[in-house]
Amino acid sequence: MMVMDHQQELLQFYWMIKMKALVVKPGSKGVYLKDIDLITENKIKVKTLYNGICGTDREIVNNKLPFVRPENGEYLILGHEALGQVIDAPENSKFKLGDFVAPMVRRPGNCMLCKIGRQDYCIDGNFAEAGIRGKDGFMREYFYEDENFLIPVEKEIGELGALIEPTKNVMKMVEVFQSLKNRIIWDCDDSTLNCKGAWIFGTGSEGVLSSLVFKSIGFNVTIVNRHPLPENVLKILDKNGLKFFDSSSKNWKEALEENPMDLAIDAAGSADIFIQVIDHINYNGIVILFGTSGTGSISDGSFITKIVDKNLSIAGVEDGSKKNYIDAAKFLFEYGSKYSINDIITSRIKPEETWIFNEKPKDEIKTIIDWNL
Ligand SMILES: [Zn+2]
Repeated sequence: MMVMDHQQELLQFYWMIKMKALVVKPGSKGVYLKDIDLITENKIKVKTLYNGICGTDREIVNNKLPFVRPENGEYLILGHEALGQVIDAPENSKFKLGDFVAPMVRRPGNCMLCKIGRQDYCIDGNFAEAGIRGKDGFMREYFYEDENFLIPVEKEIGELGALIEPTKNVMKMVEVFQSLKNRIIWDCDDSTLNCKGAWIFGTGSEGVLSSLVFKSIGFNVTIVNRHPLPENVLKILDKNGLKFFDSSSKNWKEALEENPMDLAIDAAGSADIFIQVIDHINYNGIVILFGTSGTGSISDGSFITKIVDKNLSIAGVEDGSKKNYIDAAKFLFEYGSKYSINDIITSRIKPEETWIFNEKPKDEIKTIIDWNL
Protein backbone atom coordinates (compact mmCIF):
# COMPACT_ATOMS: atom_id res chain seq x y z
CA MET A 1 0.00 0.00 0.00
CA MET A 2 2.84 2.32 0.93
CA VAL A 3 4.48 1.59 -2.44
CA MET A 4 1.25 2.37 -4.31
CA ASP A 5 0.90 5.68 -2.52
CA HIS A 6 4.45 6.61 -3.38
CA GLN A 7 3.92 5.66 -7.02
CA GLN A 8 0.75 7.68 -7.19
CA GLU A 9 2.58 10.62 -5.70
CA LEU A 10 5.32 10.35 -8.31
CA LEU A 11 2.79 9.96 -11.07
CA GLN A 12 0.94 13.02 -9.91
CA PHE A 13 4.15 15.00 -9.69
CA TYR A 14 5.03 13.92 -13.21
CA TRP A 15 1.66 14.92 -14.62
CA MET A 16 1.50 18.32 -13.08
CA ILE A 17 2.16 21.46 -15.12
CA LYS A 18 2.86 24.86 -13.59
CA MET A 19 0.78 27.63 -15.05
CA LYS A 20 -0.40 31.13 -14.28
CA ALA A 21 -3.97 31.82 -13.18
CA LEU A 22 -5.95 34.76 -11.85
CA VAL A 23 -7.35 33.69 -8.50
CA VAL A 24 -9.59 35.14 -5.81
CA LYS A 25 -10.10 34.02 -2.23
CA PRO A 26 -13.89 33.86 -1.74
CA GLY A 27 -14.93 35.89 1.29
CA SER A 28 -12.21 38.50 0.81
CA LYS A 29 -11.35 41.25 -1.65
CA GLY A 30 -8.54 41.08 -4.20
CA VAL A 31 -7.29 39.14 -7.21
CA TYR A 32 -3.82 37.66 -7.77
CA LEU A 33 -1.89 36.25 -10.70
CA LYS A 34 -0.57 33.04 -9.12
CA ASP A 35 1.55 30.09 -10.24
CA ILE A 36 -0.60 27.05 -9.74
CA ASP A 37 -0.49 23.35 -10.67
CA LEU A 38 -2.60 21.93 -13.45
CA ILE A 39 -3.09 18.18 -13.00
CA THR A 40 -3.45 16.17 -16.19
CA GLU A 41 -6.90 14.74 -16.91
CA ASN A 42 -8.10 12.48 -19.70
CA LYS A 43 -10.06 15.31 -21.26
CA ILE A 44 -9.58 18.01 -23.88
CA LYS A 45 -6.64 20.27 -23.03
CA VAL A 46 -7.32 23.87 -23.98
CA LYS A 47 -4.94 26.81 -24.16
CA THR A 48 -6.73 30.01 -23.24
CA LEU A 49 -6.57 32.73 -25.89
CA TYR A 50 -8.92 35.42 -24.55
CA ASN A 51 -11.11 36.11 -21.54
CA GLY A 52 -13.82 38.71 -21.40
CA ILE A 53 -14.13 40.73 -18.20
CA CYS A 54 -17.63 41.57 -16.98
CA GLY A 55 -19.37 43.16 -14.02
CA THR A 56 -19.66 39.78 -12.28
CA ASP A 57 -15.85 39.40 -12.25
CA ARG A 58 -15.50 42.87 -10.72
CA GLU A 59 -18.14 42.06 -8.11
CA ILE A 60 -16.35 38.80 -7.21
CA VAL A 61 -13.00 40.59 -6.84
CA ASN A 62 -14.67 43.17 -4.58
CA ASN A 63 -16.34 40.43 -2.52
CA LYS A 64 -19.86 41.60 -3.37
CA LEU A 65 -21.37 38.24 -4.34
CA PRO A 66 -22.22 36.03 -1.36
CA PHE A 67 -22.60 32.80 -3.39
CA VAL A 68 -19.00 32.74 -4.69
CA ARG A 69 -17.25 29.54 -3.59
CA PRO A 70 -14.07 27.67 -4.56
CA GLU A 71 -13.97 24.29 -6.30
CA ASN A 72 -11.26 22.93 -3.98
CA GLY A 73 -9.23 24.56 -1.21
CA GLU A 74 -9.48 28.27 -0.51
CA TYR A 75 -8.90 29.83 -3.93
CA LEU A 76 -11.17 30.08 -6.96
CA ILE A 77 -9.78 30.62 -10.45
CA LEU A 78 -11.70 33.57 -11.86
CA GLY A 79 -13.20 33.94 -15.36
CA HIS A 80 -16.31 32.67 -17.11
CA GLU A 81 -15.99 34.27 -20.56
CA ALA A 82 -13.36 32.55 -22.68
CA LEU A 83 -12.12 31.46 -26.06
CA GLY A 84 -9.44 28.79 -26.27
CA GLN A 85 -7.63 26.48 -28.64
CA VAL A 86 -7.40 22.70 -28.30
CA ILE A 87 -3.78 21.63 -27.77
CA ASP A 88 -4.42 18.02 -26.82
CA ALA A 89 -7.38 15.69 -27.15
CA PRO A 90 -8.00 12.06 -26.22
CA GLU A 91 -8.51 9.59 -29.08
CA ASN A 92 -12.06 9.47 -30.49
CA SER A 93 -12.75 12.96 -29.28
CA LYS A 94 -14.89 15.19 -31.50
CA PHE A 95 -12.26 17.92 -31.21
CA LYS A 96 -8.79 17.93 -32.73
CA LEU A 97 -5.58 19.83 -32.25
CA GLY A 98 -5.92 23.51 -33.22
CA ASP A 99 -9.73 23.71 -32.95
CA PHE A 100 -11.16 26.87 -31.40
CA VAL A 101 -13.58 26.30 -28.53
CA ALA A 102 -15.63 28.28 -26.03
CA PRO A 103 -16.34 26.63 -22.66
CA MET A 104 -19.80 26.67 -21.05
CA VAL A 105 -20.13 28.30 -17.65
CA ARG A 106 -22.95 26.52 -15.85
CA ARG A 107 -22.59 22.81 -15.09
CA PRO A 108 -25.60 20.61 -14.33
CA GLY A 109 -26.67 19.46 -10.90
CA ASN A 110 -29.16 16.62 -10.41
CA CYS A 111 -32.57 18.14 -11.05
CA MET A 112 -34.80 17.16 -13.94
CA LEU A 113 -33.94 20.24 -16.01
CA CYS A 114 -30.20 19.82 -15.42
CA LYS A 115 -30.48 16.22 -16.63
CA ILE A 116 -31.87 17.29 -20.00
CA GLY A 117 -29.18 19.91 -20.66
CA ARG A 118 -31.28 22.85 -19.45
CA GLN A 119 -29.25 23.71 -16.36
CA ASP A 120 -30.04 27.32 -17.32
CA TYR A 121 -33.53 26.51 -15.96
CA CYS A 122 -32.23 24.59 -12.90
CA ILE A 123 -34.96 24.25 -10.27
CA ASP A 124 -32.92 23.70 -7.10
CA GLY A 125 -29.79 25.83 -7.51
CA ASN A 126 -27.46 22.84 -7.18
CA PHE A 127 -25.45 23.69 -10.27
CA ALA A 128 -21.85 24.91 -10.46
CA GLU A 129 -20.63 27.91 -12.45
CA ALA A 130 -17.06 28.15 -13.70
CA GLY A 131 -15.24 31.13 -12.24
CA ILE A 132 -18.19 31.92 -9.97
CA ARG A 133 -19.39 29.10 -7.74
CA GLY A 134 -17.96 25.66 -7.12
CA LYS A 135 -15.88 25.37 -10.27
CA ASP A 136 -12.59 26.92 -11.30
CA GLY A 137 -12.86 29.41 -14.15
CA PHE A 138 -10.89 30.11 -17.31
CA MET A 139 -8.59 33.05 -16.50
CA ARG A 140 -5.55 30.80 -16.69
CA GLU A 141 -3.08 29.57 -19.27
CA TYR A 142 -4.64 26.12 -19.71
CA PHE A 143 -7.61 24.07 -18.63
CA TYR A 144 -8.91 20.53 -19.10
CA GLU A 145 -12.51 20.19 -20.15
CA ASP A 146 -15.14 17.57 -20.85
CA GLU A 147 -15.97 17.86 -24.57
CA ASN A 148 -19.71 18.09 -23.84
CA PHE A 149 -19.14 21.52 -22.32
CA LEU A 150 -17.09 22.91 -25.19
CA ILE A 151 -18.67 24.81 -28.07
CA PRO A 152 -16.96 24.45 -31.47
CA VAL A 153 -16.04 27.86 -32.88
CA GLU A 154 -14.89 28.94 -36.36
CA LYS A 155 -11.23 30.00 -36.22
CA GLU A 156 -11.91 33.15 -38.23
CA ILE A 157 -13.95 34.48 -35.32
CA GLY A 158 -10.71 35.59 -33.57
CA GLU A 159 -11.11 37.69 -30.43
CA LEU A 160 -14.88 37.99 -31.00
CA GLY A 161 -14.97 34.49 -29.51
CA ALA A 162 -14.54 36.14 -26.11
CA LEU A 163 -18.09 37.51 -26.62
CA ILE A 164 -19.77 34.11 -27.08
CA GLU A 165 -20.59 33.73 -23.40
CA PRO A 166 -22.36 37.11 -22.98
CA THR A 167 -24.04 36.69 -26.40
CA LYS A 168 -25.51 33.32 -25.40
CA ASN A 169 -27.64 35.20 -22.82
CA VAL A 170 -29.06 37.28 -25.67
CA MET A 171 -29.77 34.12 -27.67
CA LYS A 172 -31.78 32.81 -24.75
CA MET A 173 -33.71 36.12 -24.74
CA VAL A 174 -34.53 35.52 -28.41
CA GLU A 175 -35.72 31.99 -27.56
CA VAL A 176 -37.92 33.31 -24.72
CA PHE A 177 -39.22 36.14 -26.94
CA GLN A 178 -40.18 33.64 -29.68
CA SER A 179 -42.15 31.49 -27.27
CA LEU A 180 -43.97 34.46 -25.69
CA LYS A 181 -44.92 36.03 -29.00
CA ASN A 182 -46.47 32.75 -30.12
CA ARG A 183 -49.44 33.18 -27.82
CA ILE A 184 -51.06 35.43 -30.44
CA ILE A 185 -50.36 36.67 -33.97
CA TRP A 186 -47.63 39.16 -33.16
CA ASP A 187 -45.78 39.54 -36.47
CA CYS A 188 -46.36 42.39 -38.93
CA ASP A 189 -48.79 41.85 -41.82
CA ASP A 190 -45.92 41.04 -44.15
CA SER A 191 -44.89 38.23 -41.73
CA THR A 192 -41.70 40.05 -40.61
CA LEU A 193 -40.94 42.11 -37.49
CA ASN A 194 -40.18 45.25 -39.51
CA CYS A 195 -43.09 47.22 -38.02
CA LYS A 196 -42.04 46.36 -34.46
CA GLY A 197 -39.78 48.22 -32.09
CA ALA A 198 -37.39 46.66 -29.58
CA TRP A 199 -36.16 48.93 -26.81
CA ILE A 200 -32.99 47.89 -25.05
CA PHE A 201 -32.28 49.51 -21.67
CA GLY A 202 -28.57 49.65 -20.88
CA THR A 203 -25.64 50.50 -23.13
CA GLY A 204 -22.96 48.18 -21.73
CA SER A 205 -21.69 45.23 -23.76
CA GLU A 206 -24.82 43.17 -23.02
CA GLY A 207 -27.07 46.07 -24.12
CA VAL A 208 -25.14 46.67 -27.34
CA LEU A 209 -25.02 42.94 -28.16
CA SER A 210 -28.79 42.65 -27.52
CA SER A 211 -29.44 45.59 -29.86
CA LEU A 212 -27.48 43.96 -32.66
CA VAL A 213 -29.02 40.51 -32.20
CA PHE A 214 -32.59 41.87 -32.15
CA LYS A 215 -31.82 44.02 -35.17
CA SER A 216 -30.60 40.89 -36.97
CA ILE A 217 -34.00 39.21 -36.46
CA GLY A 218 -35.82 42.18 -37.98
CA PHE A 219 -36.65 44.69 -35.22
CA ASN A 220 -36.21 48.45 -35.32
CA VAL A 221 -34.04 49.03 -32.29
CA THR A 222 -33.82 51.89 -29.80
CA ILE A 223 -31.15 51.69 -27.13
CA VAL A 224 -31.70 53.69 -23.95
CA ASN A 225 -29.59 55.17 -21.19
CA ARG A 226 -30.18 57.97 -18.72
CA HIS A 227 -27.15 59.95 -19.82
CA PRO A 228 -25.54 60.95 -23.14
CA LEU A 229 -23.32 58.26 -24.65
CA PRO A 230 -19.58 58.40 -25.34
CA GLU A 231 -18.46 58.79 -28.95
CA ASN A 232 -17.37 55.18 -29.39
CA VAL A 233 -20.80 53.79 -28.42
CA LEU A 234 -22.60 56.34 -30.62
CA LYS A 235 -20.37 55.30 -33.51
CA ILE A 236 -21.50 51.66 -33.19
CA LEU A 237 -25.16 52.72 -33.05
CA ASP A 238 -24.80 55.04 -36.08
CA LYS A 239 -22.99 52.44 -38.14
CA ASN A 240 -25.76 49.91 -37.51
CA GLY A 241 -28.83 52.13 -37.76
CA LEU A 242 -29.73 51.82 -34.06
CA LYS A 243 -31.57 54.73 -32.46
CA PHE A 244 -30.48 56.18 -29.12
CA PHE A 245 -32.78 57.68 -26.52
CA ASP A 246 -31.38 59.59 -23.54
CA SER A 247 -34.15 59.05 -20.97
CA SER A 248 -32.95 61.99 -18.86
CA SER A 249 -34.41 64.18 -21.67
CA LYS A 250 -37.87 62.85 -20.65
CA ASN A 251 -38.97 63.26 -24.27
CA TRP A 252 -40.59 59.82 -24.48
CA LYS A 253 -43.39 60.88 -26.82
CA GLU A 254 -41.09 61.80 -29.69
CA ALA A 255 -38.88 58.74 -29.25
CA LEU A 256 -41.93 56.44 -29.17
CA GLU A 257 -43.34 58.04 -32.33
CA GLU A 258 -40.04 57.32 -34.02
CA ASN A 259 -39.97 53.71 -32.80
CA PRO A 260 -42.85 52.09 -30.90
CA MET A 261 -42.03 49.87 -27.92
CA ASP A 262 -43.30 46.32 -28.54
CA LEU A 263 -40.44 44.48 -26.90
CA ALA A 264 -38.42 45.84 -23.98
CA ILE A 265 -35.21 44.29 -22.71
CA ASP A 266 -33.84 45.55 -19.46
CA ALA A 267 -30.19 44.85 -18.83
CA ALA A 268 -30.06 47.37 -15.97
CA GLY A 269 -32.32 45.91 -13.27
CA SER A 270 -33.75 49.15 -11.93
CA ALA A 271 -37.35 49.57 -10.77
CA ASP A 272 -37.48 53.10 -12.24
CA ILE A 273 -36.82 51.69 -15.68
CA PHE A 274 -39.37 48.91 -15.22
CA ILE A 275 -42.05 51.49 -14.35
CA GLN A 276 -41.20 53.51 -17.48
CA VAL A 277 -41.39 50.37 -19.60
CA ILE A 278 -44.84 49.36 -18.30
CA ASP A 279 -46.09 52.92 -18.92
CA HIS A 280 -44.76 53.17 -22.46
CA ILE A 281 -44.92 49.68 -23.96
CA ASN A 282 -47.64 48.81 -26.47
CA TYR A 283 -50.56 46.43 -25.85
CA ASN A 284 -49.48 42.75 -26.00
CA GLY A 285 -45.92 43.89 -25.35
CA ILE A 286 -43.17 41.57 -24.19
CA VAL A 287 -40.78 42.54 -21.39
CA ILE A 288 -37.59 40.59 -20.79
CA LEU A 289 -35.70 41.28 -17.58
CA PHE A 290 -32.05 40.45 -17.49
CA GLY A 291 -30.38 42.95 -15.15
CA THR A 292 -29.90 41.70 -11.61
CA SER A 293 -28.80 44.75 -9.64
CA GLY A 294 -32.41 45.21 -8.42
CA THR A 295 -32.45 48.84 -7.27
CA GLY A 296 -35.41 51.09 -6.41
CA SER A 297 -38.96 50.15 -5.44
CA ILE A 298 -42.42 49.73 -6.95
CA SER A 299 -45.13 50.80 -4.52
CA ASP A 300 -48.04 51.73 -6.78
CA GLY A 301 -50.73 49.06 -7.30
CA SER A 302 -52.02 50.68 -10.50
CA PHE A 303 -48.87 49.26 -12.02
CA ILE A 304 -50.43 45.77 -11.83
CA THR A 305 -53.59 47.04 -13.54
CA LYS A 306 -51.51 48.34 -16.45
CA ILE A 307 -49.76 44.97 -16.87
CA VAL A 308 -53.14 43.19 -16.96
CA ASP A 309 -54.93 45.74 -19.18
CA LYS A 310 -52.16 45.66 -21.74
CA ASN A 311 -51.87 41.83 -21.77
CA LEU A 312 -48.15 42.13 -21.14
CA SER A 313 -45.81 39.13 -20.97
CA ILE A 314 -42.95 39.57 -18.54
CA ALA A 315 -40.10 37.08 -18.28
CA GLY A 316 -36.92 36.91 -16.25
CA VAL A 317 -34.08 35.37 -18.21
CA GLU A 318 -30.96 33.81 -16.73
CA ASP A 319 -28.01 32.02 -18.35
CA GLY A 320 -28.47 29.96 -21.53
CA SER A 321 -28.33 26.43 -22.95
CA LYS A 322 -25.69 24.80 -25.13
CA LYS A 323 -27.86 25.61 -28.15
CA ASN A 324 -27.84 29.28 -27.11
CA TYR A 325 -24.00 29.19 -27.06
CA ILE A 326 -23.94 27.59 -30.51
CA ASP A 327 -26.32 30.26 -31.84
CA ALA A 328 -24.14 32.95 -30.24
CA ALA A 329 -21.00 31.63 -31.96
CA LYS A 330 -22.93 31.52 -35.26
CA PHE A 331 -24.25 35.08 -34.82
CA LEU A 332 -20.79 36.52 -34.03
CA PHE A 333 -19.26 34.67 -36.97
CA GLU A 334 -21.97 35.70 -39.45
CA TYR A 335 -22.50 39.29 -38.34
CA GLY A 336 -19.02 40.11 -36.96
CA SER A 337 -17.88 42.22 -39.88
CA LYS A 338 -21.34 43.35 -41.09
CA TYR A 339 -22.05 44.99 -37.71
CA SER A 340 -18.37 45.81 -36.88
CA ILE A 341 -18.79 43.90 -33.63
CA ASN A 342 -15.05 44.27 -32.98
CA ASP A 343 -15.79 47.87 -31.95
CA ILE A 344 -17.40 46.44 -28.78
CA ILE A 345 -13.94 45.30 -27.63
CA THR A 346 -12.54 48.58 -26.35
CA SER A 347 -9.35 47.39 -24.58
CA ARG A 348 -7.03 44.43 -24.64
CA ILE A 349 -4.85 43.83 -21.61
CA LYS A 350 -2.27 41.39 -20.26
CA PRO A 351 -3.22 38.88 -17.51
CA GLU A 352 -0.95 40.63 -15.00
CA GLU A 353 -2.87 43.93 -15.35
CA THR A 354 -5.11 43.17 -12.39
CA TRP A 355 -5.98 46.86 -11.84
CA ILE A 356 -8.64 46.25 -14.50
CA PHE A 357 -10.86 44.58 -11.88
CA ASN A 358 -11.02 47.76 -9.81
CA GLU A 359 -10.97 50.39 -12.49
CA LYS A 360 -13.01 50.62 -15.69
CA PRO A 361 -11.05 52.09 -18.62
CA LYS A 362 -12.64 55.26 -19.98
CA ASP A 363 -15.45 54.48 -22.47
CA GLU A 364 -15.18 50.75 -21.82
CA ILE A 365 -17.72 48.54 -23.53
CA LYS A 366 -15.81 45.27 -23.19
CA THR A 367 -12.26 44.68 -22.00
CA ILE A 368 -10.59 41.38 -22.83
CA ILE A 369 -7.50 39.66 -21.47
CA ASP A 370 -5.23 38.50 -24.28
CA TRP A 371 -2.99 35.62 -23.07
CA ASN A 372 -0.64 36.13 -26.02
CA LEU A 373 0.21 39.75 -25.17
ZN1 LIG B 1 -30.60 21.66 -11.54
